[in-house]
Amino acid sequence: MKLVFSVLFSCFLLVSLQAQGPQNWEGKFEPIDRMIEPPSPYRSASGAPGKAYWQQRADYVIKAELDEKNNMISGEETITYHNNAPEDLSYLWVQLDQNVNRKENEDFGEVMGTVRDSMTTRHMQFLTRAIDFPAGYTIKYVKDANGKSMNSLVNNTMMKIRLDQPLKSGTSISFSIAWSYPITDRSLYLLSREGYEYFPEDDNTVYLIAHWFPRMAVYNDTEGWQNQQFQKLGEFALEFGDYDVEIKVPADHLIAATGELQNTDAVLTAEQRKRLDQARKSFDAPVMIVTPEEAEANEKTKANRTKTWKYKATNVRDFAFASSRKFIWDAQAVQFSDHITMAMSFYPKEGLPVWSEESTKAVVHALEVYSDATFEYPYPAAISVNTSNIGIEFPMISFNGGRPKNGKISELAKAGMISTIIHEVGHNWFPMIVSSDERKWMWMDEGLNTFIHQRTLEERYPQFNHTTPKTIVPYMSGDKSIMRPIMVTSDNELLQQIGANFYQKPTVGLQILRNSVIGRELFDEAFREYANRWKYKHPNPADLFRTLEDATAADLDWFFRGWFFTTDQTDMELTNVKWFKVLEKDINLEGETQKVNLKIGGESAGEQAKDFTSGPEDITMISTPDANYGQFLSRLDETELRKQLADKNIYELTIKNVGGLVMPVTVEWEYTDGTKEVDRLPADIWRLNEHLIKKTFIKEKEVKQVHLDPNFEFADIDMENNSFPKKEEPSEFDKLKQ
Ligand SMILES: [Zn+2]
Repeated sequence: MKLVFSVLFSCFLLVSLQAQGPQNWEGKFEPIDRMIEPPSPYRSASGAPGKAYWQQRADYVIKAELDEKNNMISGEETITYHNNAPEDLSYLWVQLDQNVNRKENEDFGEVMGTVRDSMTTRHMQFLTRAIDFPAGYTIKYVKDANGKSMNSLVNNTMMKIRLDQPLKSGTSISFSIAWSYPITDRSLYLLSREGYEYFPEDDNTVYLIAHWFPRMAVYNDTEGWQNQQFQKLGEFALEFGDYDVEIKVPADHLIAATGELQNTDAVLTAEQRKRLDQARKSFDAPVMIVTPEEAEANEKTKANRTKTWKYKATNVRDFAFASSRKFIWDAQAVQFSDHITMAMSFYPKEGLPVWSEESTKAVVHALEVYSDATFEYPYPAAISVNTSNIGIEFPMISFNGGRPKNGKISELAKAGMISTIIHEVGHNWFPMIVSSDERKWMWMDEGLNTFIHQRTLEERYPQFNHTTPKTIVPYMSGDKSIMRPIMVTSDNELLQQIGANFYQKPTVGLQILRNSVIGRELFDEAFREYANRWKYKHPNPADLFRTLEDATAADLDWFFRGWFFTTDQTDMELTNVKWFKVLEKDINLEGETQKVNLKIGGESAGEQAKDFTSGPEDITMISTPDANYGQFLSRLDETELRKQLADKNIYELTIKNVGGLVMPVTVEWEYTDGTKEVDRLPADIWRLNEHLIKKTFIKEKEVKQVHLDPNFEFADIDMENNSFPKKEEPSEFDKLKQ
């Protein structure tokens, strides 16, 4: 073969390059194929659902009643479960999430740490549940479609329903469950996603009712039954279906819920209906449906009668609602290409004035930016309900913390409240529609959602702080002994690390890919592709990783491997910069070429200079001997080459990968004339040596200072070692003076 010589020659070059640094190769650029699920007929190697992709479906008909006097809720539901799996099922698993609140399931002791010398009573209650309270389901019956009792067994938060006949592939089963449970006081819990909040001043309650009815567990091609117990941190995995829900509440309550209200005439006044019609045509400001004055009057009524609110929701994975006589209600329309969505807020007077000013506005911003980044919001409503603390999402409705004190709220708290609303409304996309398994991979919905949530803040609220790669530095430079990779299952992460590892780190990872690795246009297209491929489906991490590569032609395995599967850090050290100039007097050397030493790089260049003060080192360039051209008869124009290099400054950078993550490198040159220039090197520069690289640049101007990652694009955890000459450390005296 004619190529043999040149192949041998380049092999030799590779070996000599690699000899420059440490040899322990860690395969940082190797494919991640063996670390993720292999493709199958159900999930293709491109990251898209395969031809044989299937998914179960669960439709619900629910009739429930809220008992305000006893803080109880009870209901009867009929589930129609469609087995689209290729296999038959001999039993079903139903989630009983409320059982997590039973005393024997409380393990917040570990979450809250140990007993200390001085503790608040509330803290002590979290730890000990000294004041006990009832919690968990009473299951009245489980019956088949003929009314015959079904054989079931409860294991903690999961109920197994044994079937007399296996549920054949491609068939459906309908069965009914009657249940009740005591609604718990949200103030008695640390992670109080749902429950009631009591307002002693006017003797009223706001009910936030969620994971309230027995729900089908997910059964899929990679997990079988996802029946991992609910332990409060790892959230939910749910099937899509249609909901038909009737809720009986005191007649003076106002309900906010998933879905579309079906019996407006029976539950709303003529005036409220008229205002709602106005709101449907109001695209630039919210319309008050229930005013603060009306809500305050309502607080005093305490009706004995009841009213039943009827809802329908199509193609949702869950249903939640809020109910109270305290609610103020405003609404605004958002126009999409083929439908209108009502952006709405429900809040007690305690949320005024900031809730009437900001909540619905924030819902609209979220709907617009997320729709642009993924796909149009498909549902008829998007509701933000005010609560005392935290934020939690459901299809079309979210419960969001943040209230003023005595009518006043700090700018920071207001930003936090708006940010929460955007985040929870954003969860409609991840995981309510792009329905990943929250119980297993918290980062998949929290990370992707926080990424677009931060983009919404950046675009619509530029005055607020938002996440950037710099945000994650304190976490990533933290104590490694308590650090897990992002690819750790939800319940195996520490409560204090969740925000950083499942929200911020994936967000920053996607920001790095978007802004500094792939580029915005192509990244946004790939992200949109992922969202569209998996809407109303159940994606796994592999489907995301594969789609981001498939749609961009970027090999990102090095990034996924490092950022998602390890706790390595970005820490580039600019170890050395050597400055060279081509020696002019050598230009016309003829016949003596063999005697001259080639002095580029290498340790032979003498002692390492700490800065540029001793001037450039000389490079003696010799003519290329004929033998080096091999069979080529043509020759390089040496005069032109020498002309090109004459007077130029040649800089050789030595960069060490201290943190372990391979990353692109941006180099900022600060010239002696005060101007600056940036060169960008792709992560590929680390392919042949993952620990130490050298790179040569030719510059017209003389360099005063060289910096790596000047714009904090890559979350470099130590900027002190990013410059040459080394930046002067401020003395202790200077620090004190500052
Ligand atoms: Zn979230």
